[in-house]
Amino acid sequence: MDIKDIIIIGSGPAGLTAGIYAGRAKLKTLLFTGLPSGGQLTLSAEIDDFPGFPEKMTGPELIKKITEQVRKFDVEMIEKNVISVDFKKRPFTIKTDNQEYLAKAVIVATGASAKWLGLKNEQELIGHGISACAVCDGFFFKNKIVGVVGGGDSAMENAITLTKYAKKVFIIHRKNELKAAKKLQEEVLNNPKVEFIWRSIVSEIKGKDSLEGVYIEDVNSKERKFLDLDGLFISIGYKPATDILKGKLKLDDNGYIKVEENTKTSVDGVFAAGDVCDTKYRQAITAAGLGAMALLDADKWLREKDKQN
Ligand SMILES: Cc1cc2nc3c(=O)[nH]c(=O)nc-3n(C[C@H](O)[C@H](O)[C@H](O)COP(=O)(O)OP(=O)(O)OC[C@H]3O[C@@H](n4cnc5c(N)ncnc54)[C@H](O)[C@@H]3O)c2cc1C
Repeated sequence: MDIKDIIIIGSGPAGLTAGIYAGRAKLKTLLFTGLPSGGQLTLSAEIDDFPGFPEKMTGPELIKKITEQVRKFDVEMIEKNVISVDFKKRPFTIKTDNQEYLAKAVIVATGASAKWLGLKNEQELIGHGISACAVCDGFFFKNKIVGVVGGGDSAMENAITLTKYAKKVFIIHRKNELKAAKKLQEEVLNNPKVEFIWRSIVSEIKGKDSLEGVYIEDVNSKERKFLDLDGLFISIGYKPATDILKGKLKLDDNGYIKVEENTKTSVDGVFAAGDVCDTKYRQAITAAGLGAMALLDADKWLREKDKQN
């Protein structure tokens, strides 16, 4: 069977950038895009912070451009999900629903996804008032009224970021205490723009083309009230796409791939890049940077292995 130098799993900014670098390094490369392809950026209605693109651009447009750049090089792309991996022996085996592939090295760039509330209208309004990332989208809410759902660190960080732009930030939390770090709590509690709505959940999202507001329900009394909002930032956590890697690579308690020296996983020859191993930055540009780093590390590793053989 044909053995690839490298198999890249994922077609978000991390996987695609690894693909560009692999193509330029003239490695025999296969990239599985996953389904749907393109990753989280395909949910973004406007990208303002990716260098090199001063014009207004949507997430799907940016992904299309990066994909075109990958296609300039000799990189085979297959629009399928990987359903299992065998990292016990080299070459590594990667399986899709109907075929097995072999590779000397692998880059896992399967990303993560924000957890959403699962309410009607929510998915349709992502990028039109609903978001999960204040660093990405907070800028679009200058002098607006926004809500943040959650009580952990990422909710507080989102709220702090939003206070730079919005005139009012409501934090909607189902408990009457926060689980965020004390320092973050203090910063939020002392900010005059922030108002807490305790022991409450968002029970309904209103809006057709853009968010109009939400119904808040008191968890005890079940009393509902309408909250007029321009933006709603769901901050209830992320889920890394690592189900196929359980028992194959070392993962942390939340399921993220554990890496050393930036991109090395617990298996020699398997590298990771992007949101699947980054719980801190979660940006397109940092994922792309990690994709480049993973490929450079993998390329060096392949050359060293070649010398040894
Ligand atoms: C609504 C929204 C707006 C955002 N806006 C911005 C912004 O304005 N600026 C910014 O910098 N960042 C933004 N982000 C964050 C940014 O999108 C992520 O940080 C970035 O996409 C992470 O890239 P990644 O390549 O690591 O993973 P992802 O983008 O998550 O891509 C993962 C890829 O892996 C694939 N995959 C998963 N499992 C498998 C499998 N088993 N087999 C094959 N493939 C698989 C998926 O299909 C996908 O192609 C936003 C995120 C969201 C959700």
